[in-house]
Amino acid sequence: MSKARKITLGTKEWADSNVNCYSGCSNNCKYCYAKKMAIRFNRKTNESWNEMVPNQKAIEKGYMKRKGRVMFPSSHDITEESLDNCLVVLEKLFKSGNNVLITTKPRFECIQVICKKFIKYKNLLQFRFTITSINNGLLEFWEPNAPLFEERLKSLKYAYEKGFKTSVSIEPFLDKNPFTLVEKLLPYITESIWVGKMNYMSSSNINVNDKKYYYSIYEINSNKNLLEITKKALKFGKIIRLKDSIFNSLGLNKLKRN
Ligand code: SF4
Repeated sequence: MSKARKITLGTKEWADSNVNCYSGCSNNCKYCYAKKMAIRFNRKTNESWNEMVPNQKAIEKGYMKRKGRVMFPSSHDITEESLDNCLVVLEKLFKSGNNVLITTKPRFECIQVICKKFIKYKNLLQFRFTITSINNGLLEFWEPNAPLFEERLKSLKYAYEKGFKTSVSIEPFLDKNPFTLVEKLLPYITESIWVGKMNYMSSSNINVNDKKYYYSIYEINSNKNLLEITKKALKFGKIIRLKDSIFNSLGLNKLKRN
C-alpha cells in the first residue's frame, strides 16, 4: 500500500512561520478558522472576535532573521486601526532580513502606506491579497467588514504598478466559476494566484435568508465543480496554484507543477 501523501493545509502551504500582533479581526468572516479556534480555546467569544486587541508583547519584541518565509499576519488583518502597530512589526522583520508574505484583504490606504514605507525592502516583500469574488453581495455576506471588490482590485493594481511582487489568494472561492475573477486579476500578478475551497463555515446566527449562501457553497464545493476547476486551471499554466484542500477532496495527488 502506498504511503499516504502528507497534506499541508492553510497557511503552511505558503510560509514557514507566521507573525501576528493583534487578537481578533474586524473583518469577521463567516468562514474564519482563527475565530473558531479562538472561541474553542476561550480566547474570544462570537461577539468579541471583531474587536481587535493589540498584542503589546508581539509589537514590542525584537524579530531575528527566521528560516524561510514569514507570513504576516495570519489571524487578523491590516486595517486602518491596526496599521501603525503592523508597520512597527513589519519594519523589524524587514530590518532583520526576513522574506515576508503580507496577506491581507487590502484596504487601499493601508497598501499605499506600506508601499511607500517599505519601498527599499521590495525584494523581501510579496503581497498576497485575498480576493474571493467579483460579487460584492457575496463579499458582504461572507466577509462583512472587509473591503469590497473594487478597493481590493485597486490595491492590487497599485502594488503592481509600484513594482512590488504581487499574488492573490482566491480562498475560499465564492463564485462557482472563479476564473472570471482570475481573468480580471491576471494582468496585475507577478507571482501566482491560489485557488482554495471553503473548509469551514460558522453556523451561528443563521437566519432563513442566509441559507441560500450556505447551500451555494455545497454546490460550488461539489466534486463535480472541483474537478471542473482543476481542468480549467491547467489552461492557465503555472500561475494558477490549486490548494491541497481541492486535491484532498478529490482524492487526487497534487499535480507536480504545484
Ligand atoms: S480576514 Fe482572515 S483573520 Fe480576519 S476574520 Fe477574515 S478569515 Fe479571519
